[in-house]
Amino acid sequence: MNTPVNVAAAQKPGKVNLLGMDRQSLEAFFVELGEKPFRATQILQWIHQRGVANLDEMTNISKELRTRLAETTEIRCPEVVLEQASDDGTRKWLLRVDTGNCIEAVFIPEPGRGTLCVSSQVGCALDCSFCSTAQQGFNRNLSVAEIIGQVWVANRALGKTPDGDRIITNVVMMGMGEPLLNFDNVVQAMNLMTEDFAYGLSKRRVTLSTAGVVPALDRLREVSDVSLAVSLHAPNDALRNELVPINKKYPIQELLASCKRYLEGKPHRRITFEYVMLNGVNDSPQLARELVRLLADVPSKINLIPFNPFPSTRYTRSSDAAIDAFRDILVKAGFTTITRRTRGDDIDAACGQLAGKVLDRSKRTARRIIPIAGVAAAPAHPCTSQ
Ligand code: SAH
Repeated sequence: MNTPVNVAAAQKPGKVNLLGMDRQSLEAFFVELGEKPFRATQILQWIHQRGVANLDEMTNISKELRTRLAETTEIRCPEVVLEQASDDGTRKWLLRVDTGNCIEAVFIPEPGRGTLCVSSQVGCALDCSFCSTAQQGFNRNLSVAEIIGQVWVANRALGKTPDGDRIITNVVMMGMGEPLLNFDNVVQAMNLMTEDFAYGLSKRRVTLSTAGVVPALDRLREVSDVSLAVSLHAPNDALRNELVPINKKYPIQELLASCKRYLEGKPHRRITFEYVMLNGVNDSPQLARELVRLLADVPSKINLIPFNPFPSTRYTRSSDAAIDAFRDILVKAGFTTITRRTRGDDIDAACGQLAGKVLDRSKRTARRIIPIAGVAAAPAHPCTSQ
């Protein structure tokens, strides 16, 4: 299970990557090969539960079938360029997805749960004014294999507890990118997260976070019922237009109407609204009261995210006093409100800080870099140029 994989070296264009196939597509694939559909569950268990990326290790699959599979398929996982561990237990993986691009996945341990934050795109097209990913612009969508590959890498590195329990209990699509703009691949990857024969997570423990792409959100309701987080960040259109420009296309009332539709037929479920706390911009008590009125009839939880600064940003983080005052107004009005603690500060693993500036960072964090077999620790990497 822990044999080192140098999967990038095994890149064979034209072959089907089994890593990125959910149960449905694997079953169809095997039926087409003239095989029984249960081969799909065997393959899923080998790849996702046992972390095996080599067909030869799949001993319950006949040699003959393995040879046939090797001709047309491969199991290609993202290559780990760098793994870092924070003093607070947060872990971060820099993964090379192609010759010019890297993405990051972050694991955040908390009492009773372990959350993996996963990216859906290289860069992002939405241009939110307080987000460092926006500064990179949009590069491309990640494939299903590249999305689920982040879970594969982290799961393989983290293993299970001594009692055999999962270490990754939750996945949040809150890394780089807008997941609803990579709809089909994200849905298929989330299918694998919740698939019993793969990662087996409950749908409530897989969260898609969106800036509010309303038509895609309405489509999501038809095909999935994962938990939903919405990056609201402002209680009125004038301010939200400035912070989250896609609001000009899909304004708040349309977004909230779509959120309510998403909850139809899902009793006891709530939407998590994310609200970044920007000093002097969106953190006044008056705006907190406006938020209370806005969300009065939407079953919601509110996550306040202290702004994580990055070079060249014009924003600063709200003071603790302002965040507490804002939270108190929401709590008094009856909203479950959590202030998200910044984690992994020392390895730049916080919300909005996931990007590819390896050179800058490696100087500060060199002592915590965990060497990966076959990967030079030197940060000379295409990501550094982005
Ligand atoms: N595109 C998705 C996922 C983005 S990242 C979305 O918009 O929801 C997840 C969260 O981090 C979003 O709420 C995003 O607005 C927030 N975020 C981005 N940059 C941030 C920063 N610098 N500080 C704090 N939160 C940030």
